[in-house]
Amino acid sequence: MKKLEEVLRDWEAVIGLEVHAELTTLNTKMFCGCKLEFGAAPNTHTCPVCLGLPGALPVPNKAAIESIVLAGLATNCDIEKHSMFYRKNYMYPDMAKNFQTTQGPIAFCMRGHLDLDIDGKAAGERIDLAGLAVGESGEPGSTAENVTVTEDGYIAHVGIERIHMEEDAGKMVHVGGGEGRIAGATHSLVDYNRAGTPLIELVTQPDLRTPEEARLFMQKLRQIYLAIGISDCSMEEGSLRCDGNVSLRRRGSKGLGTKTELKNMNSFKNLHDGLAYEICRQAEVLEEGGIIYQETRHWDPSKKRTIVMRVKETADDYRLFPEPDLAPYDLTDEWIEGVRAKLPELPDQKAKRFASDFGLSAYDARHLVDHRETAAFFESCMANGTDAKLAKPLANLVINDLSAYLNANDVVLDQSPFTPERAVALVKLLAEDAISSKQGKQVFAAIMEEDKDPATIVEEKGMKQVSDTGAIEAVVDAVIAANPKEVASYKEGNTKIIGFFVGQCMKQMRGQGNPKLINQTLAKKLSE
Ligand code: ADP
Ligand code: ZN
Ligand code: MG
Repeated sequence: MKKLEEVLRDWEAVIGLEVHAELTTLNTKMFCGCKLEFGAAPNTHTCPVCLGLPGALPVPNKAAIESIVLAGLATNCDIEKHSMFYRKNYMYPDMAKNFQTTQGPIAFCMRGHLDLDIDGKAAGERIDLAGLAVGESGEPGSTAENVTVTEDGYIAHVGIERIHMEEDAGKMVHVGGGEGRIAGATHSLVDYNRAGTPLIELVTQPDLRTPEEARLFMQKLRQIYLAIGISDCSMEEGSLRCDGNVSLRRRGSKGLGTKTELKNMNSFKNLHDGLAYEICRQAEVLEEGGIIYQETRHWDPSKKRTIVMRVKETADDYRLFPEPDLAPYDLTDEWIEGVRAKLPELPDQKAKRFASDFGLSAYDARHLVDHRETAAFFESCMANGTDAKLAKPLANLVINDLSAYLNANDVVLDQSPFTPERAVALVKLLAEDAISSKQGKQVFAAIMEEDKDPATIVEEKGMKQVSDTGAIEAVVDAVIAANPKEVASYKEGNTKIIGFFVGQCMKQMRGQGNPKLINQTLAKKLSE
């Protein structure tokens, strides 16, 4: 199979996502009063409504509707004041009612959009934009406007078709087969605690063009949902799940190809890698003259391939019709405005504020808000009158060292030994040239390992950087006097030899000389 970069030269990928989020922060289920609790003993949170017993009547959960409206407002959707619930009929033991309550053609939230700022390596997958000047637009998407090229990448404008309300099914456990699969199982167990959990599904327009764009869309959406507090958004535990739809078309053509759908991608990496694989697989099929079938596929990260799950069912198969037990749902302007007033600061707004309040670049501000934890951490660092000059080095510390550490070590920031006070103290030591940048990295590592303050670490490890000009001049003079041959070589134009002098000075100062000062002093004295 060809590599993704190669495939994308000839083909354009068209991607749309369907994202499910469980409203885990609510107390009760979507249509009954049963408690929402992850990990409770099986079938302890059930009642006639969520078990679908005859005659039981559902009542919509108003708090859940507030959550979906918050999600819609946060993603620039129009809020529909008049919408309805529908029945999606299917027979499977995970839903005792034999239908799922969902929404029809008009959902609570319609016609939204999000802008994705894409920079660095992630922007590289968009090969059609290479060479375009800043501010210029690329190829228009099929439905969304387009993309805008920026200083360090581009902005992708992604349309959102809708966000609708539905309910989760129960959880099945297949026993006796391999790896919990149904094939070969002797029997299956079902837990209805999850049945009826409020779920919102967001459907994007087919506006995404690369696996990176899909990954970044999910990350951004997760940050928004976390900010508005509607879900714990755990991809591991399944409270945030994503299906990736993808098709190919020849570069330059405008129609849509036949898509396949990758189900339940449970991490950002799987979403990216699964789509990348599927794009390459489809290209191979098409280039060999084959055809793509509209089917649902499963990405297997260990085998690194996708396999067919089933041929896609259509709306007719579900015999969708308006739910007779629930009246159409009306929202008033006043109520919607009340929800809007509860919107907290969203990640994009936070990034704008960071850039203007602390004089940070758009890039730094954007990456500080990539994670809620790091954004809050940075803000605590800058609180209580921290010198504005430290904002940039603090941002670098958070975006680079800290984020890399947290990623690599699976550590929760507010349970780590790295506190805002220690971050500020570390950056101050660097700004005052008390320690070198190399020593700064060692101090950072030592804080994490030894749970001590930067000053203590510097003291204990004898790291203090010598920035006393008198002491440095004395060492520089001695080194110059001891190496006349090298001095002559420098004066003949071999300026690179300055590295040798720096090394000699550092050796004499046992690594504690301020390298910047040593360099400056040497350069001055050698050209005297
Ligand atoms: P389905 O009826 O199969 O569920 P939808 O039209 O509801 O399809 O779209 C589901 C998702 O697939 C949406 O995110 C949409 O943007 C995306 N999509 C639709 N058609 C295509 C296509 N040809 N290629 C890629 N994605 C597509
Ligand atoms: Zn119930
Ligand atoms: Mg659909």
